Amino acid sequence: MKRALVTGGSGGIGAAICRRLAADGLHVIVHANSRLAEAQRIAAGIVAGGGAAQAAAFDVTDRVQAESALQDLLAAGPIQVVVNNAGIHDDAVMPGMKPAQWLRVIDVSLNGFFNVTQPLLLPMMATRWGRVINITSVAALAGNRGQANYAAAKAGLHGATKSLAIELASRGITVNAVAPGIIATAMGEAAFDKAAIEKLVPMKRAGTPDEVAALVGFLASDQAGYLSGQVISLNGAML
Ligand code: NDP
Repeated sequence: MKRALVTGGSGGIGAAICRRLAADGLHVIVHANSRLAEAQRIAAGIVAGGGAAQAAAFDVTDRVQAESALQDLLAAGPIQVVVNNAGIHDDAVMPGMKPAQWLRVIDVSLNGFFNVTQPLLLPMMATRWGRVINITSVAALAGNRGQANYAAAKAGLHGATKSLAIELASRGITVNAVAPGIIATAMGEAAFDKAAIEKLVPMKRAGTPDEVAALVGFLASDQAGYLSGQVISLNGAML
């Protein structure tokens, strides 16, 4: 059974991705930072439904802690699917943005991607099959007022996605980014109210975590073996 790590599995989109990958037959490691109990609850729900899952917690910005947790997980075998979904936003228009706001958002999304993905690559490459899926944002493609830090972090992931896709192409490993628009989770609802959604989204509704998970499930499948280096938008026609 292939194993998948979903960072931020304790959050709205991450939980849906965990459930989807488990339904598709993967052993899922539901990752959390502060909410290990929530990750354990999601993993227990998957197991109760006949799937395979476990929970793990570490701060993706802490290279030493991440490395140690990942080596523990790798002791049970390679992790062939990694979904870099952990992310935060801390919005402010740039003239008023504090350096800590800039650094922290980039640290979680961009440095977190490196800290988690890099240690998994050699064992993944040895299997000649792998999937790296990075959850980014429409903000990285279109920009968004108050989100220079968030957009920069997510756009950085787009560059890393394309470069890593080229590096790993000969090893049966695909690397893609999924750029959601407004998704109905605590994060999405904190940033956009109903009126804003109606104005911004041609489909006049937020997307659902399950709709993101469906795309991630496809990217993680054997069927998506020739799809790599892409940034795929999922945003209700916010072109
Ligand atoms: P949530 O706030 O629900 O979840 C965020 C997740 O990231 C949590 O599981 C949290 O862990 C984890 N996390 C935060 N900081 C760290 C850290 N330092 N180390 C490890 N994990 C961390 O967000 P969503 O589910 O809405 O978003 C998931 C992803 O989708 C994010 O990358 C976000 O940028 C992106 N996205 C979301 C959109 C939306 O509208 N919701 C739109 C576009 C993109 P814990 O809670 O355990 O601390």
